[in-house]
Amino acid sequence: MKKLIYLDNAATTRTSEEVVAAMLPYFTEYYGNPSSVYEFAGVSKKAVSESRRTIAETIGAKENEIYFTAGGSEADNWALKAAAEAYQDKGKHIITTKIEHHAILHTAEYLEKRGFEITYVGVDENGSVKLDELEKAIRPDTILISVMFANNEIGTVQPIREIGAIAKKHGILFHTDAVQAYGQLPIQVDEYNIDMMSASAHKLNGPKGIGFLYIRKGVKIRSFVHGGAQERKRRAGTENVPGIVGFGKAAELAVKSMAERTQKETELRDYLIDRVLKEVPYTRLNGHRTNRLPNNANFSFQFIEGESLLILLDNDGICGSSGSACTSGSLDPSHVLLAIGLPHEIAHGSLRLTLSAETTKEDIDYVVDSIRTIVERLRSMSPLYEDFLKKNARNR
Ligand SMILES: *Cc1c(COP(=O)(O)O)cnc(C)c1O
Repeated sequence: MKKLIYLDNAATTRTSEEVVAAMLPYFTEYYGNPSSVYEFAGVSKKAVSESRRTIAETIGAKENEIYFTAGGSEADNWALKAAAEAYQDKGKHIITTKIEHHAILHTAEYLEKRGFEITYVGVDENGSVKLDELEKAIRPDTILISVMFANNEIGTVQPIREIGAIAKKHGILFHTDAVQAYGQLPIQVDEYNIDMMSASAHKLNGPKGIGFLYIRKGVKIRSFVHGGAQERKRRAGTENVPGIVGFGKAAELAVKSMAERTQKETELRDYLIDRVLKEVPYTRLNGHRTNRLPNNANFSFQFIEGESLLILLDNDGICGSSGSACTSGSLDPSHVLLAIGLPHEIAHGSLRLTLSAETTKEDIDYVVDSIRTIVERLRSMSPLYEDFLKKNARNR
């Protein structure tokens, strides 16, 4: 295969060999259904509960507060829909933000169509949620605040401690979509007053299609999938045993390696950011300069289309992601980039690069050189850039 530099770890990560090795026996050797009564199935059952314990420990939760789901999107859907249903007697108002993942935003829209009122709180130019706006949005009928721990596009880490404190002060449930943060940042649910939290294994070198929703004891919840008695009757369906085992292993490894791994990633991330900003003119960094995910860099290059940049990077064997929602068939710029105040034309020229523990300085050097060359080439073909240069020359 040709050169591959994978810098799209916010989209998904490589499943680590150790995780795969932990999962394998649960396909062919211990394939029993955890709900069956014989000893053979007990092996599967024990594996599920060990994984649940491992994961609970990583966030300071109790085992019976972890509910396995089929990923982050399901956990987000569950948290919002179940809280809305369970607490609608108290009120029908929910607060979230303008920069959430679509798993939250589209669920919120679904609830709006069913009579709930949603307030979408804005963010500042760095992508940090405006705390004063959030607190002002609280009403007597507010039942839930849902704010992501860290943003998947621009990497900004939210003031979760402050938001948790605000929610607690007003006696409102607090959910956080921690899909990007879990495994990258230390999270303790009590410390941050988190009542519900979503996570997904494939963002931390675990398998795809397995996630969890943490639900604090005492929170009124509703079953999400009806059927058998799995997940304490809240989420029916035969457990994804290999997936759950893989998630447990991935969580264990991520927490164990966190300090060292994220320090190395932060250094490389800053090296990437510094070089790009220095060597490619008319470029900006999106998201908070320091208070961001250790592996995230997000740039806007003036006068070019992010899509063209991505295709040419792909030719060089580099996997990145753009800031427009082209995957959904539209060419609208990302709602996150618009929320931080970028004009459409600048948001369109955006590139997200997200590192992994395997990324090297050589990779970054290669990528920066490639970006510089491609951006120069695209700009040389851009009438907008030509106009800009002419105008500049006239003004001089
Ligand atoms: C990836 C992601 C999700 C969705 O998780 P899946 O497991 O892919 O369904 C939700 N929220 C955020 C912030 C994400 O990055």
